[in-house]
Amino acid sequence: MNVEPVIGLEVHAELLTRSKIFCACSAAFGGPANTNVCPVCLGMPGVLPVLNRRVVEFAIRAGLATHCSIAPSSRFARKNYFYPDLPKGYQISMYELPICTGGHLDVLVDGETRRVGLTRIHMEEDTGKNIHETHADASLVDFNRSGVPLLEIVSEPDMRSVAEAGAYLRTLRSILQYLEICDGNMEEGSFRCDANVSVRPAGETALGTKVEIKNMNSFRAVEKALAYEIARQTDALARGERLVQETRLWDAEREETRSMRSKEYAHDYRYFPEPDLLPLVAAAALVDDIRATLPELPDARRERFVRDYQLSAYDADVLTQRKDVADYFEAAVAAGAPPKETANWVMTELLRIVRDEKLDRQLVIRDWPLAPAQLGRLVALVQAGTITRATAKELIPRLRGTDRDPGELVAAEGLAQVSDRAALEAAVAGVVAQHAAQVAEFRAGKERVLGFLVGQVMKATGGKANPQLVQELLRKALRG
Ligand SMILES: [Zn+2]
Repeated sequence: MNVEPVIGLEVHAELLTRSKIFCACSAAFGGPANTNVCPVCLGMPGVLPVLNRRVVEFAIRAGLATHCSIAPSSRFARKNYFYPDLPKGYQISMYELPICTGGHLDVLVDGETRRVGLTRIHMEEDTGKNIHETHADASLVDFNRSGVPLLEIVSEPDMRSVAEAGAYLRTLRSILQYLEICDGNMEEGSFRCDANVSVRPAGETALGTKVEIKNMNSFRAVEKALAYEIARQTDALARGERLVQETRLWDAEREETRSMRSKEYAHDYRYFPEPDLLPLVAAAALVDDIRATLPELPDARRERFVRDYQLSAYDADVLTQRKDVADYFEAAVAAGAPPKETANWVMTELLRIVRDEKLDRQLVIRDWPLAPAQLGRLVALVQAGTITRATAKELIPRLRGTDRDPGELVAAEGLAQVSDRAALEAAVAGVVAQHAAQVAEFRAGKERVLGFLVGQVMKATGGKANPQLVQELLRKALRG
């Protein structure tokens, strides 16, 4: 059966403000339970919320960066429901009059740009956190997270594949990180995603019955959960079963979705305007000021990297997904390194170390294995033929944590590439003499044996031989 999936995503992004949205408590992640709390975020009766101006500015930044209209006047609303992590019995959110509406994101899928509409972005307060593990017969609640500012970013049901949904999430996270308003850490819950997914026979325009999936805490989980759910719904459709509108939880261990509640038990939140907060007026002058401070965003930067540095679209995309990586690359190039080679070094050697050591967990990578200027110098030395790539790789751990200049280290330790013909001819002659079998194979037409012989010469010279020259001399010796 040929079906088309229809996917919409709802993201909750915790904002990097210092204090909470309606009180002066710290909004920092972690800390001993219930230490960042006060009567306001504990939901005591009789207290009044005071709106954090930074939260409004961050919401407007997000709205402008995603091409939304910023409402001149918007309103907070009470969303009523009972749960132990919400002592007030309601969450302050926005409902009929959100601050941002009608934007879009352009996402790259397999080299093609797809536009995904944004329905709205609104502000709300986070809830506390139930802790079930510590005591077998009791649940505890930590209210440190209660009142931490959130943006809820709701997409239109515009995505048609798992790959598109993944690209949308990565693009959105990248923009929020560029704006420096959210660290995008899915594991710590500062970037959370719920998905709405339905399937319909290809060519159909009416929407199928949608299912909401919750409890996914990594990009991989979102992609796996969507793939699972699309397959499950497609099967049901093929068997002529009727799907029910419901909320399902992703079980990461069993890799399946499970029904949590069906529509009959759906909440009626009884929204009404929050009487303790005035309507929010976003003056045009404030919006203009914020617009003027927006950084260059990933899209524009990617295009500029292709244009100014002649990078491939793929390389430019990898380098601009994170602002700190793009900044690092540009600083290395500014130190005099050729852009294409620098891009290769950043994408392979540097990012491999960053990922292995999980240095990219933070919003900004601080502990780069090399300072950008050191990388720039190192790449320039390889490019000029002064040292081999192998030598350059070995120098990375030795330069780490120092401010030594790579050129000075190379000179001090005699690591420069050997391009001296006489010296290399001797090494080549030695290798040819020691590997008679391989030499015979090569002469019999086995061209790829040459690689092995080049490797032997490199080994004999401690990795310092100029590989091009070694090849040339080897061919000459083998012909003779
Ligand atoms: Zn508080």
